[in-house]
Amino acid sequence: MNEFNLIEKYFNWGKLNCDALGVGDDCALISIDSGYQLATSVDTLIENVHFPRDTSPADIAYKALSVNLSDLAAMGAIPKYFTLALTLPEFDKHWLESFSTSLKSLAKKYQIDLLGGDTTKGSLSITINVTGIVPHNKALLRSSAKVDDIIFVSNTIGDAALAWHQIQQGEQPNQRLLTHFNRPEPQIKLGQSLAGIANACIDISDGLEQDLNHILKHSKVGAKINLNNIPLSQSVAAYVKKTDDWCLPLAGGDDYQLCFTIAPNKIELIQVLKKELDIQLSAIGTITKDLDFKRLGEFDQKCSAYQHF
Ligand SMILES: [Mg+2]
Repeated sequence: MNEFNLIEKYFNWGKLNCDALGVGDDCALISIDSGYQLATSVDTLIENVHFPRDTSPADIAYKALSVNLSDLAAMGAIPKYFTLALTLPEFDKHWLESFSTSLKSLAKKYQIDLLGGDTTKGSLSITINVTGIVPHNKALLRSSAKVDDIIFVSNTIGDAALAWHQIQQGEQPNQRLLTHFNRPEPQIKLGQSLAGIANACIDISDGLEQDLNHILKHSKVGAKINLNNIPLSQSVAAYVKKTDDWCLPLAGGDDYQLCFTIAPNKIELIQVLKKELDIQLSAIGTITKDLDFKRLGEFDQKCSAYQHF
């Protein structure tokens, strides 16, 4: 099967939105509604760097698109289009079918259109470029945290890192942890709901502390967080209790939850969002004028930044 047939068979599945010209021409053509800005981001996943060799094609497709959608979520953007550059070691019908089916179903879930891409032969790698739209001046930035803002984190952190840790130890993670590792859910609805409410936001891809520090640096502020308020699942809480290894949830990475800051007088809106979105949102600390990053709690070791595995 040649490249053109491959694209036609596995990646030309029709459009969800009708305002763009997609797969088949030299470029994709996109019209932008007035009053909106485009938000765009690109991420590459490489075999044995971002996922183990034996990961299923369905999980690889899910994660590749999901981590990109997470960047749109962090900006409060509405997903619209993506392109895909796929490098494959060989033509494998079953692999491609499974990859394409999973990619399509996630694309459908978040109403994002595949507008084009490229396929080449080589070591397995997947590059996805996503584009979303966000109302003018409503995008969530890293640079707008204000002194006295409350810092929030969505759901729980450390689950993917614990799954990866257990895999490395030769243990079998439970299904819940594996799902967090292989199929992180982008917080698209939360991001859109926070646009115009939160002051600053980031998605936690490289570990809570490192990503929160990006907000601090860009906003020229400090923070203190309370370890007792960090949201952990039962599995991660049990791991921390047993090992005292707080670095796993604080620096483990691959969470794809949102960390955001919000003015204290808007705190009641968080209660509304929790109910509306049926989501866990935990206040973990405050933004300070003092530029330091402080952790309140029993654990005072410095965690090294997330290393790509
Ligand atoms: Mg990001």
